[in-house]
Amino acid sequence: MADQSSVTDGIHYHQHDVVIVGAGGAGMRAAIESAPKASTAVITKLYPTRSHTGAAQGGMAAALANVEEDSNEWHTYDTVKGGDYLTDQDSAEILTREAIDAVYDLENMGLPFNRTAEGKIDQRRFGGHTRDHGKAPVRRACYAADRTGHMILQTLYQNCVKHGVQFFNEFYVLDLVMAEVDGAKRVSGVVAYELATGEIHVFQGKSVIFATGGFGKIFKTTSNAHTLTGDGVGIVWRKGLPLEDMEFYQFHPTGLAGLGILLTEGARGEGAILRNASGERFMERYAPTIKDLAPRDIVARSMVQEVLDGRGAGPHKDYVYLDCTHLGAEVLETKLPDITEFARTYLGVDPVTERVPVYPTAHYAMGGIPTNNDAEVLADNETVVPGLYAAGECACVSVHGANRLGTNSLLDINVFGKRAGNNAVAYAQTADFVDLPADAADGVVKLLAQLREGTGTENVAEIRKALQETMDRNAQVFRTDETLQRALADIAELRTRYPNVRIHDRGRRFNTDLLEAVELGFLLDLAEILVVSALNRKESRGAHMRDDYPKRDDENYMQHTMAYRVAGDIGLPQEIRLDWKPVRFTHYEPQERKY
Ligand SMILES: Cc1cc2nc3c(=O)[nH]c(=O)nc-3n(C[C@H](O)[C@H](O)[C@H](O)COP(=O)(O)OP(=O)(O)OC[C@H]3O[C@@H](n4cnc5c(N)ncnc54)[C@H](O)[C@@H]3O)c2cc1C
Repeated sequence: MADQSSVTDGIHYHQHDVVIVGAGGAGMRAAIESAPKASTAVITKLYPTRSHTGAAQGGMAAALANVEEDSNEWHTYDTVKGGDYLTDQDSAEILTREAIDAVYDLENMGLPFNRTAEGKIDQRRFGGHTRDHGKAPVRRACYAADRTGHMILQTLYQNCVKHGVQFFNEFYVLDLVMAEVDGAKRVSGVVAYELATGEIHVFQGKSVIFATGGFGKIFKTTSNAHTLTGDGVGIVWRKGLPLEDMEFYQFHPTGLAGLGILLTEGARGEGAILRNASGERFMERYAPTIKDLAPRDIVARSMVQEVLDGRGAGPHKDYVYLDCTHLGAEVLETKLPDITEFARTYLGVDPVTERVPVYPTAHYAMGGIPTNNDAEVLADNETVVPGLYAAGECACVSVHGANRLGTNSLLDINVFGKRAGNNAVAYAQTADFVDLPADAADGVVKLLAQLREGTGTENVAEIRKALQETMDRNAQVFRTDETLQRALADIAELRTRYPNVRIHDRGRRFNTDLLEAVELGFLLDLAEILVVSALNRKESRGAHMRDDYPKRDDENYMQHTMAYRVAGDIGLPQEIRLDWKPVRFTHYEPQERKY
């Protein structure tokens, strides 16, 4: 179905039933559901196959039980316990139940999974995935060498092309358009900036799905690509919609030391071991049952503790080792070829014969745009915004609670991406277009003019660096009131400098200088919400470890955080109001979390 488009006053107008923002795994999985039924546009700032999903290495969880006994129920239990009981249990049940079909859907679309000798999809171990409620590690992660995400992204892209999805590549969505209908806010469309030409496009859609991925770039040391600046999360926030559980940010244990480039947990799934400077397998002390395959929050914390206690390796004793030397060249070259190459290329270390220096790296946002199980975006604890959906890392369902298990995100984008696509197209088939307000594009035009024409003396890269450094220093694996207050003060200062940035490229075509300035605005907003939410949660749970409140406090904090923007504009202080949202329980009472 062709794009209905026109140009008025230099602004391009398009109309599609379903408008999807983001061409990562979540956005494209949604598009595959909606495109056969309704006109579907996918707008993406990156060429689709460059989305971060393509960097995912280790695998996608599903209790297929192809290589050993497994069950959905065990997978649900692990997901709930892994999330330190903040996981909404009905959502986790959907995730693990629909996991099986999600894998077979991909297989049917042509994804080349690794195979067992009998030709079934092979499965490997991953952190926190266990047999029979924590008794021992289980093989649950379906994988394609250490390029699982790459294969998923290529497969989904090919199927989008097959279904006639219309892509708008290198278009940056910068605003969401809402309008009031009968006293209720409804979605009308989005506003985008075309990188190649500098022109503005307004896309009217009956339903809009945000699938814009994460925001790891608020940190300095991160596994995330440069483009992961949380645009979608920031756009929704600036529209006055809440964000959920922003304090829960995951640090992946095995980033290449000093660089943050990821080495998949699949390495430990295949048997690699973490060791401190003296060669001790220290995880035996922290998680005696499943050791190196404990969930990421526990492993990352244990590594930092080793370093703090003086058992780190290297000239500054500031990292530990990932030891793969006993796995043998064949396993490394066939099952973990990319990470083997990363270690050789970036650190000059050969994992076949040498231990690899590693340290935690900022990796995954458990929080984001709150949705229900149908991927509908929430305006508060219950009220749905008609026509607005979110899925993937930008969304918070919440299936990951306070800490996501490895391989559950590739699963999440497939399960909830599919749900978002199905529900958005069903909505579009019954709803009418909501009229675009005459000033739909004004906010974006003003924002870009302000940044493009700014004559200040501030530099985008410097502000971003200062933000990332304070976040790494003060809001990382261990946090206290004091460090978080420091981060907050730094962010407040950076916010006042931000309106005075000067863009060097004043041109219209491929002006990435301008867009980096816009992205920095989102990073500043999101970092501040993270810190304010973290200050408010005076307990330790999952990835949120408060040194000054080291215990989990179920009585007061067994609740999701909901952050609302009360006031604030570019360069002005944000006023953030915090509230709570109950966690949904079905089967599992919170237990002490031991592994
Ligand atoms: C190195 C690495 C390895 C990982 N390994 C695994 C793994 O093995 N297993 C697992 O389960 N998880 C893994 N993860 C996590 C997982 O890959 C991601 O959480 C998931 O792929 C996110 O998918 P997504 O579709 O939500 O977003 P992404 O794949 O990040 O896609 C975001 C899309 O949004 C678009 N976009 C963003 N902003 C805008 C804008 N303003 N306008 C228009 N378009 C926009 C981008 O162009 C892109 O197409 C890994 C992550 C990393 C970083």
